[in-house]
Amino acid sequence: MLKQVVEGVLVHESEFLQSNSVVVQGRHGVLLIDPGITGDELAALANDLRELGQPVVAGFSTHPDWDHVLWHANFGDVPRYGTARCAASLQDLLSNADWRDRIAPGLPPEYAEEIPMELLGLITGLPAEAAQIPWDGPEVRIIEHQAHAPGHAALLIEERGVLVAGDMLSDILMPFLDLEAANPMEDYLAALRLFESVADDVVAVIPGHGSVGGAEQLRARIEQDRAYVQDLRDGRVPDDPRVGPSASLDWLPDVHRWQLQRLAQREQNETPA
Ligand SMILES: [Zn+2]
Repeated sequence: MLKQVVEGVLVHESEFLQSNSVVVQGRHGVLLIDPGITGDELAALANDLRELGQPVVAGFSTHPDWDHVLWHANFGDVPRYGTARCAASLQDLLSNADWRDRIAPGLPPEYAEEIPMELLGLITGLPAEAAQIPWDGPEVRIIEHQAHAPGHAALLIEERGVLVAGDMLSDILMPFLDLEAANPMEDYLAALRLFESVADDVVAVIPGHGSVGGAEQLRARIEQDRAYVQDLRDGRVPDDPRVGPSASLDWLPDVHRWQLQRLAQREQNETPA
């Protein structure tokens, strides 16, 4: 079911981890951002859009994680964009004959059978200097940054006051750092500063997972994510409800502890003998 966030911007929320697919209305059809998870759900979305007389004219994936790069044939054979780094990371993955086996362990077992793999990750990278998505609709600004995953990009639809945040600024997930990066914590803090620099223009923030928030929520989430990362950086225990004893996702505190361990290991490896 599509819900309007503001005029011309709609969201479909999946059952899996409250994943949000975003639909932006253009002149002759819609831009579909991070399409969704299960085959049935993608087909239903394609159907809803067809009934609205709004064919998909372009796609965009905010980053190369599997849950943001799925597709369904019923959306049509239209350009699917991502940042150059996002596309390169996917090409890298898909160049392995066993790419499906590599993804499989990360799929949620209760949905694994329903996730269509055929068109996964077929993303065209936009040139590194591209500031907007090339399409016939409201200007969609690409805010690329180094955080969470290679080539991660948030999108700002300025005319509508909407920030599509990818896997950041979630009310249910704490920051997942890109632990392969050279400076995951500083990168994350820099990305949050980027979001802060556009916050005055935003009336709604749509995270990759979780609830849509208003302008105040945007600022509160930036602060909450910043506090989490700074606590990790400075060796404090984060006082963050998302990973505390009453976390709404009961497995998340474990992921948080795993993240802490990985960071500690990195530090050990970096300390000169
Ligand atoms: Zn995700």
